[in-house]
Amino acid sequence: MTFAFAFHLFLHVAVPLAVAGLFFRPEFRRASLLLLAGILIDVDHVLANPIVDPDRCSVGYHLLHHYWLILVYFVLALVPKTRLIGIGLMIHIVLDWLECIR
Ligand SMILES: [Zn+2]
Repeated sequence: MTFAFAFHLFLHVAVPLAVAGLFFRPEFRRASLLLLAGILIDVDHVLANPIVDPDRCSVGYHLLHHYWLILVYFVLALVPKTRLIGIGLMIHIVLDWLECIR
């Protein structure tokens, strides 16, 4: 595992926790769990070969990282009842996308 990839994985944990701590402090435990759940969409990597390729852009490639689904995640972030799940998914997509433009 390269340092860059390890740092990417670290951000997938650190950024949701930071957002929960900064913006959802009264419900930090619940918010951090729901925001961290955004990482679960990476289960779609098992359908890819190889499962992990640090040089591949996940956004638009993997099943749960398709552009039309990103629109769904965005809408989830706008609806109060699904806001935390949606924000967690959008954080995940943005972090993956940052890997594509470096
Ligand atoms: Zn991903």
